[in-house]
Amino acid sequence: MSNQVGLPNGEQVRSVLPSPERLAKGPVAIFECFQNIPCNPCADACPRGAIKPFTDINDCPKVNDSLCNGCGICLTVCPGLSIVVVDYSYSPDEALLKIPYEFLPLPGAGDKVTALNRTGQAAGTARVLKVQENRNKTAVIWLAVPKESVMEVRHIRPGEVMEA
Ligand code: SF4
Ligand code: SF4
Repeated sequence: MSNQVGLPNGEQVRSVLPSPERLAKGPVAIFECFQNIPCNPCADACPRGAIKPFTDINDCPKVNDSLCNGCGICLTVCPGLSIVVVDYSYSPDEALLKIPYEFLPLPGAGDKVTALNRTGQAAGTARVLKVQENRNKTAVIWLAVPKESVMEVRHIRPGEVMEA
């Protein structure tokens, strides 16, 4: 499916979700990487060994999420922009979502932005908490997102806010 339309289906997305118990514990990476392509920089970059060693470079990443602390280093090296970090422990109503971002200009901390879902449709709003620039040009944007929509939000559109 994803190799035809560029989008994962619901079953694929559910297959990579950490357990509710793990999500409740704090930040954790989610890998929406579903195609067997020759790519493995995420596994090499993880300082905690949370990504299981690939047996073939075409493998999709498998994460031991008990070892992941949501540092976000893997987000900055993934050419597919396939990884996000979710932290449900951020506040009672909002989750912290870290997304990779390669557009310019970058948003600024404190901005209110339109949250977009996987198809690029508006999915509410988000607040930019932090903009983490990196030498390799893939920035990481820290967002506060309502908990009920954080598993749908995967991108943002800065500028005039469009409510869903
Ligand atoms: S977020 Fe950090 S600890 Fe978790 S898989 Fe990525 S690099 Fe490893
Ligand atoms: S770096 Fe990104 S695209 Fe490559 S295997 Fe890891 S998650 Fe998939």
